[in-house]
Amino acid sequence: MRSNRTVNVDAAVAPLDAHMVRNYGRADEVFVDGCGAELRTAEGDVYLDFLGGIGVSALGHGHPELAAALADQAGRTLHVSNLFRHPYTVEVATRLARLTGLEAVLFTNSGAEANEAALKLARKHQRDAGRPERTGFIALEGGFHGRTMGALSVTSGASYRAPFEPMVPGTTFLPSGDLEAMAAALERDRPAAVILEPIQGEGGVVELSTGYLRGVRDLCDATGTVLIHDEVQSGCGRTGTFLAADAAGIKPDVVTLAKPLAAGLPMGAIVVRAELADVLKPGDHGSTFAGGPLVLRAALVFLTLLEEDGLMERAAELGARLRTGLEAFAADFPNVGAVRGRGLMLGLHVPEGAKELQQRLYRDHHLITNCTAGDVIRMLPPYVVTETQIDDALGRIRSALEGPVIDAP
Ligand code: PLP
Repeated sequence: MRSNRTVNVDAAVAPLDAHMVRNYGRADEVFVDGCGAELRTAEGDVYLDFLGGIGVSALGHGHPELAAALADQAGRTLHVSNLFRHPYTVEVATRLARLTGLEAVLFTNSGAEANEAALKLARKHQRDAGRPERTGFIALEGGFHGRTMGALSVTSGASYRAPFEPMVPGTTFLPSGDLEAMAAALERDRPAAVILEPIQGEGGVVELSTGYLRGVRDLCDATGTVLIHDEVQSGCGRTGTFLAADAAGIKPDVVTLAKPLAAGLPMGAIVVRAELADVLKPGDHGSTFAGGPLVLRAALVFLTLLEEDGLMERAAELGARLRTGLEAFAADFPNVGAVRGRGLMLGLHVPEGAKELQQRLYRDHHLITNCTAGDVIRMLPPYVVTETQIDDALGRIRSALEGPVIDAP
């Protein structure tokens, strides 16, 4: 790893919290450097990063090809605005259209913004189709779509929404997996769109069944409802196919992407089918920063490596190795439940003490994961994680499970 001589660690630690809005509960460590799936603190402690910046750092840390491309781009142009062209727009959009099997791309700066754009596009589509009354949305219990007002309005957890009410009106939440409830709600509410995650991430790494995804697709077709798949967390090859819904052979009308798309830089996108490509006209929607040359250069590096270096196949293989290892714990530890998810998007169900286990993994075993939905240890490692690191992580989890029970601070 590189030296950290340019980082003033004391300045980084002491005054930060005094002048920060207190919306994050951060760990005390200051990470200054990284290499692949490893992160290093100012003191030189090395952590194994199995959270990858919450599913973002697909190429891990300190990736030389990405670093070189970004350094080169920084010396050319960082920003030109969407009033002008730059060399990477067409190439990234073409790749995303091919990889998703859809048609046209709109770039955003985040996952929440991608969902905002998708929701707006769905309403505009219904209006253009002569159905202006169709403004509502159907979303699923356990779903998470982001923190901006529109995305939050279709996010199911009441605790996320309650302090910020009133929400954008018109969202109906349905239990996931219940096709009859979906059919009845579509008939009754005639919404603009259904939005769902094929694998619910924040909701505890919960896979929706192929039958359910197909059923929702059919019902949306039958009722003229726009089907939005939020693959912000499950997309971009993490599960072994470019979209998680590819495994079920389902195409949505709109898919939203973000997290790993620019391998660490803030970037999102929506990709829509051909019939929706002309819904948003000049002036309808936009963003000052979105789709700039620096992030698209990063996305191009990521998508090229994904396709040409077999990173997607790697995600499937390494994910299978991690899953097999995690599944073995259930036989030895009564408190360990099922393993959920696919590829390198995995959750270990720990009905009691999941938060304590996650904190112990971090503090005592230097393995970074997170606890989601209260009882699931979630892992979203970089796609460049090695077999040895998978085995190492499994060893650390076993040691943590064997250790004495500790109280969460
Ligand atoms: N959608 C899903 C499925 C997510 O997991 C997230 C973030 O965790 C979001 C949307 C929001 O993305 P962002 O934090 O980039 O706004």
